[in-house]
Amino acid sequence: MSAFKTLDDLGDVTGKVALVRVDLNLPMNDGQVTDDTRIRAAAPTVLELAEKGAKVLLLAHFGRPKGERVSTQSLSMVVGAVEKVLGKEVMFVPEIAGDVVGQSVGILRAGDIAILENTRFWKGEEKNDPELVKAIAANADFYVNDAFSAAHRAHATTEGLAHVLPAYAGRSMQAELEALDKALGTPEKPVAAVVGGAKVSSKLDVLKHLVTQVDHLIIGGGMANTFLAAKGVDVGKSLCEHDLTGTANEILETADQAGCTVHLPYEVVVSKEFAANPPSLRTCNVHEVAADEMILDVGPLAVEALSDVLKTCRTLVWNGPLGAFETVPFDAATVALARTAAALTREGSLVSVAGGGDTVAALNHAGVANDFSYISTAGGAFLEWMEGKELPGVAALSA
Ligand code: ADP
Ligand code: MG
Repeated sequence: MSAFKTLDDLGDVTGKVALVRVDLNLPMNDGQVTDDTRIRAAAPTVLELAEKGAKVLLLAHFGRPKGERVSTQSLSMVVGAVEKVLGKEVMFVPEIAGDVVGQSVGILRAGDIAILENTRFWKGEEKNDPELVKAIAANADFYVNDAFSAAHRAHATTEGLAHVLPAYAGRSMQAELEALDKALGTPEKPVAAVVGGAKVSSKLDVLKHLVTQVDHLIIGGGMANTFLAAKGVDVGKSLCEHDLTGTANEILETADQAGCTVHLPYEVVVSKEFAANPPSLRTCNVHEVAADEMILDVGPLAVEALSDVLKTCRTLVWNGPLGAFETVPFDAATVALARTAAALTREGSLVSVAGGGDTVAALNHAGVANDFSYISTAGGAFLEWMEGKELPGVAALSA
């Protein structure tokens, strides 16, 4: 991992102005924040800077206003929720650059916190416009990026600012980068990856990268069906991208050359209708799926075999559920394998890192979210990292 500075590298920042990029793209309903997870993620960095006496200016985007002021997407709406989490008063500034911000900085005392307006109200944000970057930076002394979830975008406040101000990773960003490095950067071997979810097409680049990085690739979910079909298995009515069987075979070949063992389910849970506890539910060998059946989960014996694979590994990276986990009993394989991973992590024999919107939901459902070494809620940035891509927001911190 290339080196980046953290808050430990800050000197005396008393009275200095910090621009802190955070993730305040919060779930809202009727103007009310419905989930404050992202605020809680940013809190340690914000409070640490305030305690050190900096004047803290928070930068964040909200929604997709596309370079226009959209009153229903003003960050003024989240001020109350942020104050509640931080336990401190927070000022709101309806600009991100210029005199209004400058005057606000004048009013702020050391240790005070302000939220600037939605960065995407300005066209220059998504264009990473150097003029806007300069104008934002003009009011500040240093920049802290604590929004890993936005680090796959090279925008003015996620990337540009790091080049014109002394730049530091915030505590959340630091924790995420350290966890990801342990999982795929410099992992302890053997390394296993679990990749599941609905479609191969949405994770082609992830699969292509992982087969060159890991010792065991466990494929589950709907995407396993495409691989099974590629191997000549009749998957019946299952979700399957038949046009991608050639690609699936190429991935299997690359894995073979790289010494990566690919594990596909040999036993599956099927039914004729997609519903909770359907009457036609049964478990069978992959070669026994009928023409009118769908594969909806990995079978229990196959999961046990996968658990045995995890027991031989030191590192696990996981994206995508093994089955249609939202509907019982097709959550069984995901829950069982997640619990094995959690137990191995608790015992200290496995470093386990997981991410992805539905994956996080599935691990919460399995009740193991706190037992994994690290769970990323970053979504797109996490997937791009799993594809082996350099994230511009991270690269700029290390430059
Ligand atoms: P993530 O959001 O964690 O990246 P994905 O969005 O790729 O995960 O995949 C999750 C979805 O895949 C879930 O909605 C789940 O129901 C679906 N899925 C998993 N296995 C199957 C299957 N065998 N058939 C149909 N859908 C499946
Ligand atoms: Mg998803």
